[in-house]
Amino acid sequence: MTLEKTLARLAPEIVPFQPGHVWLAGAGPGNAGQLTLDVVSALGQADAVVHDALVDPSILRAADGADLHNVGKRGGRASADQDEINALLVALARGGKRVLRLKGGDPYVFGRGGEEARALAAAGIAFRILPGVTSAFGAMASAGIPATMRGLNKAIILATGHGLGQEDDLDWAALARTGQPIVIYMGLRNLDAITRALIEGGLVPSTPAAVIAAATTPQEQVLVATLDTLAAESRTAGMSSPALVVVGGIVSMRAELMQLEAMVRSA
Ligand code: SAH
Repeated sequence: MTLEKTLARLAPEIVPFQPGHVWLAGAGPGNAGQLTLDVVSALGQADAVVHDALVDPSILRAADGADLHNVGKRGGRASADQDEINALLVALARGGKRVLRLKGGDPYVFGRGGEEARALAAAGIAFRILPGVTSAFGAMASAGIPATMRGLNKAIILATGHGLGQEDDLDWAALARTGQPIVIYMGLRNLDAITRALIEGGLVPSTPAAVIAAATTPQEQVLVATLDTLAAESRTAGMSSPALVVVGGIVSMRAELMQLEAMVRSA
């Protein structure tokens, strides 16, 4: 069956987008294949798309006919202030638009979706949350690293590396003591300090670790090293943002799974 026919059968399940409503949605890690059907349908129905820098241009092209508002950083200018973004969402909704607020990954995972939901509710605007594939899971799947693997881990920690050195930062030693793998968002800039804190917290320096950049896009880059060498190797390789850091035994599965995948593909 063609994609069009499959979509037509699913269409009755898809909720219509009401004018004056805001949908807070996640576009996944980059590749259009990881969009949910709710988000695909929203791209077709939206009058305005308010997106951040992480949303891939190939996905925005699908929002034919909608006004695009880029409120992300990069491209030489600072990101719009959160209050300005909230005000823009409220103004567009009050103007009767169907407003798609589109974020990279999932809106409720390090995406400030909760803050925007709160602002919309305070303004009396109806909203809906459309989840997306968060970059941690999209990136690990793409890189051949299972998020959980029997015998290796019983939990997985999603952390932000943004606040390192700040007073209210995470207790990295406590995370290390769990012995469970850690996926760090926004961790590239503080990679030296993060890896040091985890080793000081008790993780052995030879713990497998990876940096995955631009996951699921044609620019994807994966670097595998160990906790003690990751920061230096990442610099040498010129790894750049957006990137995730994965620390733990699950990283060592990559070599095996990639090899198995290649074997069945060529058989
Ligand atoms: N809401 C997003 C996270 C936003 S915070 C989500 O659920 O994924 C921004 C961070 O997400 C980046 O610094 C990076 O760590 C990570 N990220 C987002 N997209 C990525 C991608 N395609 N590849 C690697 N990391 C990505």
